[in-house]
Amino acid sequence: MRQMDLATERGWIVGASRIVGFTGAGISTESGIPDFRSPDGVWARNRIVDFQEFVSSEDGRVEYWRQKVVSWPAMRAAEPNSGHLAFADLYRQGRLDALVTQNIDGLHQRSGLPADRVLELHGTTTEAACLSCGDRISSDEACRRVEAGERAPRCRLCGGFLKPATISFGQPMPVDVMERAWRAARNCDLMLVVGSSLVVEPAASIPRAAKSAGARLLIVNRERTPLDGIADSVVRGESGAVLPRLAGASA
Ligand code: NAD
Repeated sequence: MRQMDLATERGWIVGASRIVGFTGAGISTESGIPDFRSPDGVWARNRIVDFQEFVSSEDGRVEYWRQKVVSWPAMRAAEPNSGHLAFADLYRQGRLDALVTQNIDGLHQRSGLPADRVLELHGTTTEAACLSCGDRISSDEACRRVEAGERAPRCRLCGGFLKPATISFGQPMPVDVMERAWRAARNCDLMLVVGSSLVVEPAASIPRAAKSAGARLLIVNRERTPLDGIADSVVRGESGAVLPRLAGASA
């Protein structure tokens, strides 16, 4: 584990041309969005409504949307932090090939990464999608409708259930996005993992695949992860402080 002298890691980044980033909730905590597992995280404050409950129970849908309306204003107001901006910097430098994220907050796109470079494994909370016809509306519109009295809004095209466009527990992962993430991982020369506990599968196996295919594996996280043992380097620290030093011209 390395603390302050990041010269070696910076050298790897300067020498890389096909970096793939892999981010989790930790990169967004400094934007004011809590992660899941920390003591003040989402799971400490909310009952989880899984996909099965959402599709089978009106009460489950109402509870899901109640939580969404409470959490949406803070999510909407959050701004990218210096960690997100460092990834956008790497893209502008021509070093970043793709950014695979478990996050649903859209902050990588808002930091300047083109949408087609951001592979959202768990979807996005910025929109709601109809589970029947796939039509999408903005979360702003969906939350306005809930607040106006539609406690679990339905699709106005087909009457199907509207659900925030995130992947809930028990909901199938998006196959096309997963395949693109695997391909990017197998082709990268450096996998930069930031702010993920790496305990959620199959997402955590993506950095492992990059390492097996010959890429360097660099992990930046506040605490230990199950992949620390196979990483080429682990930097323990706050991503907003560490990433600009790894990626920025001033490093
Ligand atoms: P996690 O909550 O399991 O782990 C986050 C990790 O980041 C922890 O190990 C924590 O120690 C570390 N961390 C927290 N703040 C950090 C910082 N400033 N710098 C460095 N490390 C920091 O999150 P996960 O691994 O992404 O997986 C849980 C699921 O949570 C994901 O599937 C994701 O969809 C969802 N989620 C997303 C958001 C978001 O979009 N911002 C927020 C909460 C949860």
